[in-house]
Amino acid sequence: MLHAEGPLLTVDVGDRTATETSIDDTLEAAVGGRAVATALAHERIPFDADPFGPENRAYLAPGPLQQSRMSFTGRLNMTALSPLTDGLVSSNAGGYLSRNVVGTGIGVLELAGTSDELLAVHVTDRGVEFEEVPDLEGATVPETSEYMADGHDLGPDNCIAIGPAGENRVRFASVMTFDSRAFGRGGLGAVLGSKNVKCVTFEGDSEPPVEIPNPPEMDIHREAAQSDDLLRRQGTTGSTEFINDNFALPTRYFEEYGFEHADRIGGNAVEEKKYEKGACSACAYACKLPTRDEEAGIETEGPEFETVYAFGSSQGVGDIVDVMKANELCDSLGIDTISAGVTVAAYLASEDEFGNADLARELTEKIAYREGIGDRLAEGVDRCHDDLGVDNYTVKGTEFAAHDGRVLHGQGLSYAVANRGADHMYAGMLTPEYSGELDPEGTLGKAERLVREENASAFRDTGIVCAFGSDYVTPDRLETLFDADYADLMEIGARTVRRERHFNNQRGFDRSDDGLPYEIPDLEAAIDEYYAARGWTEDGVVPDRALEPIAPSAD
Ligand code: SF4
Repeated sequence: MLHAEGPLLTVDVGDRTATETSIDDTLEAAVGGRAVATALAHERIPFDADPFGPENRAYLAPGPLQQSRMSFTGRLNMTALSPLTDGLVSSNAGGYLSRNVVGTGIGVLELAGTSDELLAVHVTDRGVEFEEVPDLEGATVPETSEYMADGHDLGPDNCIAIGPAGENRVRFASVMTFDSRAFGRGGLGAVLGSKNVKCVTFEGDSEPPVEIPNPPEMDIHREAAQSDDLLRRQGTTGSTEFINDNFALPTRYFEEYGFEHADRIGGNAVEEKKYEKGACSACAYACKLPTRDEEAGIETEGPEFETVYAFGSSQGVGDIVDVMKANELCDSLGIDTISAGVTVAAYLASEDEFGNADLARELTEKIAYREGIGDRLAEGVDRCHDDLGVDNYTVKGTEFAAHDGRVLHGQGLSYAVANRGADHMYAGMLTPEYSGELDPEGTLGKAERLVREENASAFRDTGIVCAFGSDYVTPDRLETLFDADYADLMEIGARTVRRERHFNNQRGFDRSDDGLPYEIPDLEAAIDEYYAARGWTEDGVVPDRALEPIAPSAD
């Protein structure tokens, strides 16, 4: 089976050491990306670790396809113990970083320890260097990129960086690459902030011995280049009005199911502001959205649909330029647009200030710097909703993505049981429910499908293939690319979900953490069906005997 190559590079920023360890068995068994990172995290992060403690570890892991020039593969996985959920979280970002990480020759980067001084870590194919960067204290993400460009001749495609939000341990701070692409969910930026790591750069010409089969690669690239999908023109915002028409666009902090100004913040509004094509490394699909508004003096990339929801409908804001400004601000401060937007919306609900976009941006800045009320909001809705006097729209501490689970009940079930909470990328039940392939009404009988979707997403983040490439990187092509049966690839996904759940169980997660802040039909019975389909106990626990070794050397 195709798998990533290279050693585990452990960089301990506390004692400033770099150590290489062979993980060939783990790579052979788990391929790369999220599956390998989850296996390593399970093995090497103590079950009782503090997310902000030196014992937490962050893993940056490419898959084997990141070495190729195939469309839909310019992505990377990052995994750590989350300060937002308190369980394992994996997040995935695009851009141009993945080829540079592979170029260093490493299989996986592991960041451990805590530094006394703010650090930049430089990883190259010649070794690792540590640079104290006191001048970057409080710097925004673009300021950090500028520093690396001026002082080191490195571009934003060579870097991951955090902004002030990460330094200040905002629980939903993001790790940014290419200034505008985010490892967004779960507070991974705060993990790097707790380690006093401002940025990590990657540079090298190494070419690991990974052989990618050619024919499907060329077909995928050609088809991506010739596609006339709406997604290519309008990115994910192309679906905004359809989703609104399906009453699945949460509005005014979940008070309503649809937004009367969806057309002002949706795909057409964004396309009007788009000034050129944008892509990730080598991706001919090029769905990204560089946008600008000269009158407002704003230039950003996106906003994507989830930002349109979080800083648009969720806050009662119906002007795309306001959403663009919020998007640019979040990228610059290094903060997840979904959690930030929804947390700000919770505050606007408490103060009856829906529609006040200026206040929304002011609050976002205060969150990043933990000033005034921002210090409470920086903890996220789960930890501050009582102070605000609003309902707690989170699952496992994660603020809801759009795609309303009150309308798409299978997606609601997914939010309820997902190891990282209310995130839409954990399992795509929304797709068959929007298309009508599955009746969106009801939860019973959907568990088997949910398990398949979770496993497919987990393998997608392992390979690594972009979520928007599923019509092109089809199951039979995955079989060709990975030289394996699709069932075996899905089993790798299943093991990954199981391992995440087992880790979280050791931290005390069980059935009481699986649920929703609102009612949908037969949820408890559907959760029973889900546990049965997974082979877990009725308390949502993975039996120890069900946790197979990831590889002979790993357990
Ligand atoms: S489809 Fe879009 S998001 Fe995915 S890799 Fe290509 S350009 Fe990036």
